Amino acid sequence: MLEESMSEDFEGLLGAMLGTSLPEKHRELQEIAHEFANEVLIPAADRHDREESYPAQNMARLAKLGFMGILAPSKFGGFGLGNLALSVALEEINRGCASTGVTLSVHNSLFSSPLLHFGSEEQHARYFPSLASGEILGAYAITEPDHGSDAAAIETTCRREGDEWILNGTKAWITNGSYADVIVTFATMDPSLRAGGINAFVIEKSMPGFSVGKKEKKLGIRGSDTVQLIFDELRVPAQNLLGEEGHGFKVAMHTLDGGRIGIATQANGIAQACLDETINFSESHQMFGRKLADNQLVSHKIAEMATRLEGARLMTRKAAILKDLGLPHSKEASMAKLSAAEIANDAARMALEVHGGMGIGRQSSVERLFRDAKITEIYEGTSQIQRLVIARHVRPVRG
Ligand SMILES: Cc1cc2nc3c(=O)[nH]c(=O)nc-3n(C[C@H](O)[C@H](O)[C@H](O)COP(=O)(O)OP(=O)(O)OC[C@H]3O[C@@H](n4cnc5c(N)ncnc54)[C@H](O)[C@@H]3O)c2cc1C
Repeated sequence: MLEESMSEDFEGLLGAMLGTSLPEKHRELQEIAHEFANEVLIPAADRHDREESYPAQNMARLAKLGFMGILAPSKFGGFGLGNLALSVALEEINRGCASTGVTLSVHNSLFSSPLLHFGSEEQHARYFPSLASGEILGAYAITEPDHGSDAAAIETTCRREGDEWILNGTKAWITNGSYADVIVTFATMDPSLRAGGINAFVIEKSMPGFSVGKKEKKLGIRGSDTVQLIFDELRVPAQNLLGEEGHGFKVAMHTLDGGRIGIATQANGIAQACLDETINFSESHQMFGRKLADNQLVSHKIAEMATRLEGARLMTRKAAILKDLGLPHSKEASMAKLSAAEIANDAARMALEVHGGMGIGRQSSVERLFRDAKITEIYEGTSQIQRLVIARHVRPVRG
């Protein structure tokens, strides 16, 4: 969907792509996020990781700053901005704390975005005001214990009974699951129809038959909430169907294209944090009579990290701008996510190496960044799945 200020800001968008300037509103958001990351997120990130604690205070403060409503229309109290704005803000948030970053990203990219694109006027009016204020938190649940990459094979069922749909099944690995008030979820009317049988719904945690299952222990982004959700004869009013009956898979895939821009952004934030840590450490440590940064092999690592990050950021912003202009962006979103995720993991490895033993120790942030980076290669489609999507777009059509 075209963001409200898009046409006036076209020159700004080009500037954003080239890295020379950003539209005014985007720059403001970026500056606020930058300061918030330095003052609030970075000092608490290692604690949330160590304690595996949900960053509730960070989220409350981000809500006050308006970050829960970046995509929400301004008539409902949001900023009415698009994916470029979300990306520049979220990169800063992820630089500070990837657990907070994914919590915010899921709320905006995976809940607000499908609501915006596929929701009715009535659904917009019902949910956007409290989403934008941060009074309620959103999540997105498609993955099941036995079905991740092959999302068309989901087994959660839905059957119509009068004015309600009845859902049965288990969703797995759901970010924000135990804190979310509203969730976009997916269920099939007939598994043999695969993609053609799937419906999308907006469900609320207060609906009868909804419960939260086990909480996952994780390698990285340990402050984010990841749980199973259980639907046992979950009763969902018919008006909570999202989009048309039988078109849920389209909702799922369209949403993931945007979500992948969010994960590419997360990877860029992590890569920037790795670069910052590497520069700070190598500038402040002496070795063999000179600064560590003055060793050619170390400065080459810094140059490598900075150059690759620049490329990933450009790809991410290109995908975001295409989405904001309403143009096809599936290939570009997958390319950005694939590339940014690999670059973040390489950056984390290089940062850790430059820190020597300190990089392995729990007292260093690069140890956390190394673990946090890994998830960007897995969720919202693994790197293997991104390669499949990209190949489907670039291979010649036969016949
Ligand atoms: C921390 C975390 C948070 C998450 N948050 C959410 C969320 O909020 N909502 C949600 O719905 N899901 C969420 N997920 C689920 C995530 O999207 C899936 O884990 C991911 O899509 C991979 O699915 P899977 O784990 O079932 O792996 P599988 O699909 O079983 O894949 C296993 C391996 O096989 C490979 N593979 C699969 N198919 C192919 C193929 N055709 N060719 C080559 N290789 C292939 C994969 O790349 C992978 O390496 C989350 C996961 C994690 C770990």
